[in-house]
Amino acid sequence: MTNPLSAAPSVRLPEGSEYHAASPAEQPVIVVGGGLTGLSAAWELQQQGVPYVLLEAGDYLGGKVQTEFWDDFLIEKAADAFVLGKPWALELAREVGLEPELIHPREDTKRLYFLKGGELLPFPEHLRMFVPLDEEAFRRSRVLSPEGTERMLAEVNVPPRENADEDESLASFVTRRFGKEAMNFIVPMAAGIYVANPFELSMKMAFPQFLAMEQKYGSLIAGHRALPPRTTPVFGSFRGGMSELPRAVGRALSGEVRLNAPVRQVHADGVTLASGERLRGRGVVVTAPAWFSGPMLAGDFPQAAELIGELKTNSSVAVILAYRENQFTADMNMHGLQVDWSEGIPMTAITVHSGKMHGRAPAGHVLIRVFFKDTEPGEARRLAEGYVQELFGVTGEPLFHAFGDWRGKNPAYVVGHLDQLGAIRAALPAQVQVAGASFTGVGLPDCVNAGRTAARAVIAAAAH
Ligand SMILES: Cc1cc2nc3c(=O)[nH]c(=O)nc-3n(C[C@H](O)[C@H](O)[C@H](O)COP(=O)(O)OP(=O)(O)OC[C@H]3O[C@@H](n4cnc5c(N)ncnc54)[C@H](O)[C@@H]3O)c2cc1C
Repeated sequence: MTNPLSAAPSVRLPEGSEYHAASPAEQPVIVVGGGLTGLSAAWELQQQGVPYVLLEAGDYLGGKVQTEFWDDFLIEKAADAFVLGKPWALELAREVGLEPELIHPREDTKRLYFLKGGELLPFPEHLRMFVPLDEEAFRRSRVLSPEGTERMLAEVNVPPRENADEDESLASFVTRRFGKEAMNFIVPMAAGIYVANPFELSMKMAFPQFLAMEQKYGSLIAGHRALPPRTTPVFGSFRGGMSELPRAVGRALSGEVRLNAPVRQVHADGVTLASGERLRGRGVVVTAPAWFSGPMLAGDFPQAAELIGELKTNSSVAVILAYRENQFTADMNMHGLQVDWSEGIPMTAITVHSGKMHGRAPAGHVLIRVFFKDTEPGEARRLAEGYVQELFGVTGEPLFHAFGDWRGKNPAYVVGHLDQLGAIRAALPAQVQVAGASFTGVGLPDCVNAGRTAARAVIAAAAH
């Protein structure tokens, strides 16, 4: 069986070959999971000339990357863009011929708001992520009280932490460097990416660059001011949506790719599928989320499975709403809004997808994504319609709605995550690697890098 998506298979096993008949050196590497991490692992194996079998439980490739269409609306249920500062996703896109399809968020509509006390405030100008580069612009913005603003700006005078090797939470880091009130402004942007509890989120895992900058420059504000000005876009996506990337990788894979092939158990020398079929391999790259990977490893690697079982998750729900432009009193040519962390509502952010990216809604229409913490989807929809009405003056019903239900599916990366990952790896043989959002980073560039790195590690382990 070969890749159903591949136009030109090249790395194939002989017809009718039985993997268990091959010598260990000839056996394929088995990749469990066809999300972006697993696809990247398979792609790396192919680049290295190593045979592989990719096993995906579902009936499509891409995992959490899900682009869907409703008439001429393009709906992203999870990722809608990826950072270009980490090069790995763009490199992969280039390698599979997708670079001409690369697009960037629109500059002409780059208006962002901050919802505080029920009021929509314009976002401060001259920020890098959340770090103010221009003190006066930050003071004018009113996103913090005058005292909170001055404390945040005084970060330049806060000495770096001495015990630099110890992990700490995002809340500890922000409070220590920028003051307690700054949490209200920083958490929505920083923890928002991770859908995380700031009191739990590991700085070492999620933001090692900020810890490094603190040590190098003594301050994040000083460090960011020392960086050269940005001249190129920060984010990228694809004309046909984020699923273009897993689809293009899927088409480029010429080895064996099986859909609807859930793995039940992982062994040091292969896997057992839910169907009972036993596949032998020289190594296994496990990229399924922790809640699937743990049980898969429990039979042969109970200690690793137990450690994986301790990894926590968080919940989020995205409500996607489509309207006609003339239903709004507000000008919807904007990117969206972030919600003050102390606002006390379950909504965390709104992306006006049609304003942020070209080609997400037909002319004269508006496509919105409203994000929530752990909220039942029906309730989230009711609330989302209410917020959109209240904030943007919409009248009438949406043309349609959709959900991205990610309850229990966002990795929490609690303080000490990297040590936990080290312990998981130590409890597995070198030819069995775990990688992917639950383990090595949520962002798509990190997933690509982790998949490729894990593939190389399995090849190296199997060579010894
Ligand atoms: C709402 C939301 C918004 C996001 N926005 C962004 C963004 O804007 N930018 C960004 O960079 N990232 C974003 N992310 C993160 C990013 O989408 C994910 O971290 C990434 O897609 C995870 O890829 P993965 O391959 O590691 O895991 P997954 O995509 O979860 O893939 C794992 C695969 O394993 C398969 N599997 C499970 N069990 C088995 C089994 N037993 N046998 C075989 N296969 C199995 C699953 O079916 C799945 O296909 C977002 C995530 C969410 C939820």
